[in-house]
Amino acid sequence: MRPIDFTHDPAARSWLVSANQPGSDFPIQNLPFGVFRRAGSAEPWRGGVALGDRVIDLGLLVQAGCLPPAAVEAAALAARPQLNDFIALGPSAWQALRHALFALFALPNTPATIPAAALLEQSEVEHALPLRIGDYSDFYTSIHHALNIGKLFGIPDVSPNFRWLPIAYHGRVSSIGVSGQAVRRPRGQLRPPGAETPVHAPCAWLDYELELGLVVGAANPLGEPVPIGRAEEHLFGICLLNDWSARDIQGWEMAPLGPFLAKNFATTVSPWIVTLEALAPYRCAFERAPGEPAPLPHLIDDAQRAQGGFDIRLSVALESAARRAAGLGAVPLTETSFRHQYWTPAQMLTHHTEGGCNLQVGDLLGSGTISGPTAAEAGAMMELTQAGRQPLQLPGAQGDTESRGFLADGDAVIFRGWCEASGRARIGFGECRGTVLPAL
Ligand code: MN
Repeated sequence: MRPIDFTHDPAARSWLVSANQPGSDFPIQNLPFGVFRRAGSAEPWRGGVALGDRVIDLGLLVQAGCLPPAAVEAAALAARPQLNDFIALGPSAWQALRHALFALFALPNTPATIPAAALLEQSEVEHALPLRIGDYSDFYTSIHHALNIGKLFGIPDVSPNFRWLPIAYHGRVSSIGVSGQAVRRPRGQLRPPGAETPVHAPCAWLDYELELGLVVGAANPLGEPVPIGRAEEHLFGICLLNDWSARDIQGWEMAPLGPFLAKNFATTVSPWIVTLEALAPYRCAFERAPGEPAPLPHLIDDAQRAQGGFDIRLSVALESAARRAAGLGAVPLTETSFRHQYWTPAQMLTHHTEGGCNLQVGDLLGSGTISGPTAAEAGAMMELTQAGRQPLQLPGAQGDTESRGFLADGDAVIFRGWCEASGRARIGFGECRGTVLPAL
């Protein structure tokens, strides 16, 4: 577990006024990492840190000699076009850079030593994937999601393994994109309801999955599992993740090996990775409802019991093309918290390695769809609409409404994440947005 220190002080303020705005995702207590360049330019991609409405250009801070010796190497590596080399330095380097940036940008310091060019407007930059992702695995760890999906098919309980191990499958890296991604509706084999044989057609049941992305921060050698007590040392940070899903393709293809084409056409992540250091004030107990089994001993310890969870609040909103054209913005669909998840990030990481599988710096683990205990907390459209049987009604411009059983072409799906509690500084994840393009 990462310590709480002066960088989490809720009273701390930055001389950068926008970082102190109530409701800002990026106050001085957050300092998440991403990769950016000036929008539409041919500038090199480079690493930066979000603060208020700005991006801190780490390379320019290094050049200007603004940083103490202990943080220079970390900042120079974090300024590269991908964050992997910085992350590979390990937790003491992550902490040294966090402390140095806090000292530079928190009051009572003053901006005198910072070159103006090192603070770009977030509205003027574009983002690339912040990581060189070697492997991506996607979990299935919300019991509420699993029960909701089961009920749709008349299955009363989760599969027997669900309560004993964090279920997962190996995913696809090449189609992972950063927020703003345009997602082409896939074509595939699907079997229409009641039909004997499949057809090859555009996906009609296109869905999102509200997830978090867990970024691996330290490798383990092949053949050497990571024990639960060390698992969090192997996690760098967390981003938002949309695991786009073609439900009709999935329903036909997934027996008996699991999802394949239904999941590999797109995955969208948010540009900013919030560090486990920043999330330290928002840890919560690993809790299960009465009657649920305790994990096997290799998947639990006292630290996980006390603080294995994360109280990360999450929302989903949908902006149809018609609402966008009318300037109406997005319709909120869901709000929940990651604290309800059945398995913790550390348990997922330990389970992933228990047979000796080697994880590498920059690997990405999808948390699995995050659905909370009530119907309004469902993390996928499949659950919200009962597989399309109870379509959502989106209010339109002149009192008209649009109906949605699943996603339509032109729809934008917008995830947001934040942590908020009295006596603690609010921090946020920014936005993860993706828009549906029509099938070819
Ligand atoms: Mn998923």
